[in-house]
Amino acid sequence: MFQDQPVLALDVGGTKLAAGVVSPDGTVLSFCQIETTVSEGPTAVVKRLLELGEQATAEARLAEPLAAVGVGCGGPLDPGTGVILGPPGLPGWDSVPLGRLVAERFGLPAYVENDATAAALGEYRWGGWNVDNLVYLTVSTGFGGGIVASGKLFHGAANQGGELGHVVVDWQGRPCGCGARGCAEAYVSGTSIARRATEAAAGTDSPLARLGVTAKDVAEYARAGDPVASAVWDETTAMLGRMVAVLINVCEPQLVVLGGGVTRAGAQLLDPVREAALRQAMPPAARACDVVLSKHGAAVGVLGAAAIAYERLEES
Ligand code: ADP
Ligand code: ZN
Repeated sequence: MFQDQPVLALDVGGTKLAAGVVSPDGTVLSFCQIETTVSEGPTAVVKRLLELGEQATAEARLAEPLAAVGVGCGGPLDPGTGVILGPPGLPGWDSVPLGRLVAERFGLPAYVENDATAAALGEYRWGGWNVDNLVYLTVSTGFGGGIVASGKLFHGAANQGGELGHVVVDWQGRPCGCGARGCAEAYVSGTSIARRATEAAAGTDSPLARLGVTAKDVAEYARAGDPVASAVWDETTAMLGRMVAVLINVCEPQLVVLGGGVTRAGAQLLDPVREAALRQAMPPAARACDVVLSKHGAAVGVLGAAAIAYERLEES
């Protein structure tokens, strides 16, 4: 039975591709990652993703066959058909039949889901939290999230699982990749942190006034006291804290779990976000909730994709 079999999980991010084999209890049996290099376009990236999946399968040295492949990818996408529908973070990925390509390559059922929505289910199943209501937010190349309410992953009528990255935190704010203004993603994503730092540093003697600055650089320079980096970092944590307060009011979760590459900054991110969110949310909702970091590090996307594979197998 599939309940006893491992699954292959693939995670397509704007910065990294990850693949892993995951057992039914959420143990990661193998894990590998490489750079996405989005500029190469979908054909080349999908080719390397499939090769990475084969490498992860080989490294797991399985005795039993895989039950399915779960795939997490930036949305919008169609989880029913597995077609990727032009995510802002993956330029050129218009109508890419990722589910079919994965299913053909591995000869297994392939289940595609929005990466952040998938990660919410992974945190619910295997995060070690023991709660029935949680919101997961990924602060990575992009910014998005997913909701588990009363033990069920929220899918929504359009099957996108909620566009949490496009909650507006400033209605007259910065333009967002989705076409709107002032979305949380326009402030909180790694891409936006880097872009705002580059803009703020232009013409100053800040060390950030050079090309190729990343969110990681901004975090490091802010820690070292650089005023430009600190201002961008503080704006980012304030925006994220405000956004988390909105989600606490709407969803009343027991936990808001933060994951993704930018959360590698650790307490530098969590402490101000947690303080701002719990201070600004409605008191009963705030008292019922805490804000924490995922314990899964870079594997959070792979665990999410695996959780989706098991959920769909259970439904089928
Ligand atoms: P993906 O979006 O492909 O899933 P990640 O979740 O690893 O990739 O997120 C990549 C983002 O995380 C980049 O913007 C990178 O600059 C940022 N990042 C990586 N390490 C750190 C760090 N220690 N502090 C802050 N940001 C970081
Ligand atoms: Zn937007």
